[in-house]
Amino acid sequence: MADREVELLAVGAGPSNLALAVALEELAPELARDSLIIERNQGVSWQPGMLFPEALSNTSFLKDLVTLRNPRSRFSFLNYLHATGRLDLFVNMGSLTPYRAEVADYLQWTARSLALVDLQYGRQCVDISPEWTGGTLTGWTTTIADGSTIRSRYLVLGTGRDIRIPEVLRDLDRDRVVHSTQYQKRIGVLRKDLPYRVVVVGGGQSAAELFYSVQHDLPECRPTMVMRSVGLNSYETSKFTNELFFPSFVDEFHASRPEAREQMLAEMRPTNYAGVAPGMMESLYRQVYLDRLSGRSRLQMITMHDITAARDEGDEIVLELTDWRTGATREVRTDLMLLGTGFSPEMPWAVRRLTERLGLSDVAVTRDYRLVVDRPSTAACYLHGVNEKTHGIADSLLSVMANRANDILQDVLTGDHHLDTLAAVVATPGTTPVVAAS
Ligand SMILES: Cc1cc2nc3c(=O)[nH]c(=O)nc-3n(C[C@H](O)[C@H](O)[C@H](O)COP(=O)(O)OP(=O)(O)OC[C@H]3O[C@@H](n4cnc5c(N)ncnc54)[C@H](O)[C@@H]3O)c2cc1C
Repeated sequence: MADREVELLAVGAGPSNLALAVALEELAPELARDSLIIERNQGVSWQPGMLFPEALSNTSFLKDLVTLRNPRSRFSFLNYLHATGRLDLFVNMGSLTPYRAEVADYLQWTARSLALVDLQYGRQCVDISPEWTGGTLTGWTTTIADGSTIRSRYLVLGTGRDIRIPEVLRDLDRDRVVHSTQYQKRIGVLRKDLPYRVVVVGGGQSAAELFYSVQHDLPECRPTMVMRSVGLNSYETSKFTNELFFPSFVDEFHASRPEAREQMLAEMRPTNYAGVAPGMMESLYRQVYLDRLSGRSRLQMITMHDITAARDEGDEIVLELTDWRTGATREVRTDLMLLGTGFSPEMPWAVRRLTERLGLSDVAVTRDYRLVVDRPSTAACYLHGVNEKTHGIADSLLSVMANRANDILQDVLTGDHHLDTLAAVVATPGTTPVVAAS
């Protein structure tokens, strides 16, 4: 591909940058025509590893890419249903939460419906460098896997989070270790008739879904779920605490003292992490109950244990499990490990690379998600979905995306950051940069 120059480059065509594309088309058509989104995959594919036929999104369809910002948008989930002839059916279903597969299809439909923003697939960003003119930051050069480059004045990183593989499992034969994000692709090619011993690691929603699904996908397997916690727990789903997922709460969260933000995140943890959706919980318990009733006992749950060592031995993996109540250890041998271990809390690769190139010791963003560069600049970079510590628990979720896209776009359009230094940003009420992660 030839080198290219655009005003705005967005990396990653997940929901975050699709929401930005929609905002660009509706609010800034001229800039939209000079904007490019690049995506490493050959299409938009939302959660392809966990797109189980019966899996539901846990977010209202009204929290789509646009409705909370512009309920009259042609890019809404409702218009998607209308355009694809499924509106009657969805209404008749009487549910606020669509199936995950419908959300994935809606995102693809949105990508196809873009008229102004250029979206290119099969283009993986492998490097990003700042461009300086004198001492002023004037743009970014993004390098693509094929060696070509894209120069831009504005850069928006929406690459999602990096997967988390616990340290103790990192050296194992990758052929036998499957993270939830790769589940469907990797399990789909295995023989169905073999009595695999499977260990599922984790105690949250992803692990629960893996444990549930593998029993159907590998019908002869014997799955064991290993978790540190005392047992599976449901998500906390109170309508009161759900108000903390409102886009309007971002201001309040961001303006809070750092200790208060930490406390809020700790208290909100059961609403999004380390919990299982009530419907899945019920189904899982029934599976375990029926397994015991049948006398087959092929399902096991090992709670309150840490995996303290792991090694490959011939064709199997040998795990050392330590009971944290007593310190006693035991060995479990397995053919396949499924990791419901989620995502790394650290900044993703692209952000780390960029901050390294900028010589920043910390990643800090303004209220409007702009990376604080602390040098005079006529360019800017924005971070999507990785600012939970400063912008609240909803930051990685669909709930705030429509509004976040608008916050970023308005910051670009206002362009008042052009001469920002850290000191100048600190002096401006409401734009105080806060260390998001180090
Ligand atoms: C199983 C599962 C279910 C979920 N369900 C919900 C839900 O129901 N509701 C909800 O609100 N949230 C849910 N989430 C949270 C999820 O994080 C968000 O819904 C959303 O996907 C985040 O969007 P994003 O665009 O920021 O990141 P992502 O969706 O991760 O998209 C990032 C995109 O960037 C691309 N990319 C990455 N690196 C590069 C690169 N170097 N070059 C080019 N492209 C790159 C990726 O291929 C991907 O397409 C779920 C998460 C999981 C794991």
